[in-house]
Amino acid sequence: MQRRKFCQAALGAGLLVTPTLAWVSAARAQTAIAAVTLDGAPTQLEAAAVRDLAAALQGELLMAGDADYDVARKLWNGMHDKHPALIARVADSADISKAITFARERSLLLAIKGGGHSWPGKSVCEGGLMIDLAEMHAVTVDTLARRASVQGGALLGQLDSATLAKGLVTTAGVVSHTGVGGFTLGGGFGRLNRKYGLAVDNLVAAEVVTADGVVRQVSAEEEPDLFWALRGGGGNFGVVSRFDYQLYPFDRNVLSGAITWPIEQAREVLAFYRDWYLGLSDDCYVGPTMATTPDGTSFILMEVVYAGDPAAGEKELAPLRQFGKPMEDGIKVQDYQVMQTWEDATFHHGIRSYAKNGMVKAIGPELVDAMLESFVPDPRLAFFTHTAGGAVKRVGELDTAFPHRKAETMMIVAGAWTDPAQDAEAMATCREWFRQLEPFTGGYYDNIEFEGAAAAGNYGPAYPRLSRIKAQYDPGNLFRLNSNILPQA
Ligand code: FAD
Repeated sequence: MQRRKFCQAALGAGLLVTPTLAWVSAARAQTAIAAVTLDGAPTQLEAAAVRDLAAALQGELLMAGDADYDVARKLWNGMHDKHPALIARVADSADISKAITFARERSLLLAIKGGGHSWPGKSVCEGGLMIDLAEMHAVTVDTLARRASVQGGALLGQLDSATLAKGLVTTAGVVSHTGVGGFTLGGGFGRLNRKYGLAVDNLVAAEVVTADGVVRQVSAEEEPDLFWALRGGGGNFGVVSRFDYQLYPFDRNVLSGAITWPIEQAREVLAFYRDWYLGLSDDCYVGPTMATTPDGTSFILMEVVYAGDPAAGEKELAPLRQFGKPMEDGIKVQDYQVMQTWEDATFHHGIRSYAKNGMVKAIGPELVDAMLESFVPDPRLAFFTHTAGGAVKRVGELDTAFPHRKAETMMIVAGAWTDPAQDAEAMATCREWFRQLEPFTGGYYDNIEFEGAAAAGNYGPAYPRLSRIKAQYDPGNLFRLNSNILPQA
């Protein structure tokens, strides 16, 4: 029994992409193309300018009718079905600069697609220009310096594969087809974050193309304000063409897996976890999930990755594994990448999905009651967590732009289904479930949030500095399809 069972009903939907023959292409555009400006007004793009852009790019410029257009515009979440006027499938930072300049000169609505996993669909737009980084996915590992240089459109699985092959690792998220881009810029939680911190804590340098089209190298020494803002400020400051991450020596054979109990034991399991997890070592990542299989069996499970010596892990995890009467104990020494891919199929491309989340500083008895009382036994929906604490908590609140350092965990209620007719009802059920948990949260993880209140509130004390840096690097708010930071007036 695994978290994989969550939304199994949704499996098999796949992406219904029908390749079309290229009967027209941006490179041969003969008539003006209808588009949309930053403030939503209709505009026309001159055919000659579109042809010039297509000719100037090393990569491709796509428009409706081009063979890859439908593949490129699709996001992971099938609910977001938008049609950019143009898609620049960029090959390098010079291409990114040209595409940004084209958009800025025309005040064109601009979307940036890294891995395309924006849950709320911020990486696609209707009628604007999409910069698609999918072709920029190279990962280079420097074993001596313990650094990985990763192009802005790479996926987490590509990062994990390249580093693990050299006996190294950095914190990556839990589904391998997620992009490094949005993941890192928004914070970056993963199963190693208690030991090595969030992705933003391991970002040591980056190459970013800002709204003026300039390609900048940033780090703690070069343009430190911009570097600070990238580490949590999302896609607000430019297009990152390269991320450089700190790596750590790592034995990929880790004690890991899941232990599952019937939902009837959830109260005892959560009450035990509430006290026990506070004493965990940084090596130990354990967090609860509550879900229901398609046949109606509800369960609670604890997902485990022990990122240290397995023998020490056996000792530390013994109280959990001896607790109650589990239905299944699937914890064993196995390749870290088994864990890093075990939910890939559940969260496959094309499902329709919605999520609510919130940061939690302490799991007290009242929260445990709320977790149990709010639980909805619906196979489309699940409650799960991203465990933080440890190294995440030891970074100062304003050392990076990621604001939620004091949280012990992130609670998420998510749903996945395939039938568009279920959209409204499934989303409403998710919202109602989460509404009962929300009083126990303080702030939310932008990367997952759909209706987050104004970014200012969620960034808290980091916002004034973010807003000043935004004014310096993106005064016209070209990069606005994100959790938007407004340039300081
Ligand atoms: P995209 O949709 O491509 O982009 C998202 C946002 O980032 C957009 O605003 C886009 O403009 C911007 N962006 C992307 N790339 C760049 C770039 N190179 N330069 C500038 N801006 C860029 N989060 C976690 O922390 N841990 C997890 O384990 C985790 N698991 C997830 C699993 C699934 C199935 C999904 C759907 C999401 C998960 N998330 C997780 C949330 C994830 O971090 C965000 O959805 C993130 O935005 C995805 O990045 P992306 O590049 O794939 O997204």
